[in-house]
Amino acid sequence: MNKIKFATAWLGGCSGCHMSFLDLDEKLLELANKIELVYSPIADVKEFPEGVDVTLVEGAVANLDNLRLAQQIRARSRRVVSFGDCAVTGNVPSLRNTLGVDDLLTAVYQEGPGRHPAGGGEILPRLLPKVLPLHQVIQVDAFLPGCPPDAERIWAAVSALLADEPILLEPARRTFG
Ligand code: SF4
Repeated sequence: MNKIKFATAWLGGCSGCHMSFLDLDEKLLELANKIELVYSPIADVKEFPEGVDVTLVEGAVANLDNLRLAQQIRARSRRVVSFGDCAVTGNVPSLRNTLGVDDLLTAVYQEGPGRHPAGGGEILPRLLPKVLPLHQVIQVDAFLPGCPPDAERIWAAVSALLADEPILLEPARRTFG
């Protein structure tokens, strides 16, 4: 049986959506029989691969690294799912949009009370002027809201994706839940 090439990615989020994914518990074994996990924060793969069937994306697009990865995911994935409220709406990371601070990294790490050690700034990816939900950056095929989405809803969505139910046949956006 050809296994579905499956990926998950972690952009600007707390990783709680991935923790909820791991709450699938024994269903993960069932999943492992059907998919080949080709990229994920829980797998040590450095480069997002070509020819991915389904990618769940956790987190908002907050910095240049997030933006580049989101674009790479879209170019290399047949179906992209906005996974959790940070990806769907911007949620917690987008709270900084209301602060009106142009250069937040400097404000926090260089001017704030907890100063970052000198020389550390260049390792941080440049922040985008505003945090954006995923669909404002790339086309998204389905939305799986929740903070985090619970394991039952994740399973319903993943099962539909793996069964090639309409979501895989129709490019129209669809929300699970
Ligand atoms: Fe964390 Fe909630 Fe955002 Fe998921 S949606 S990354 S659980 S804050």
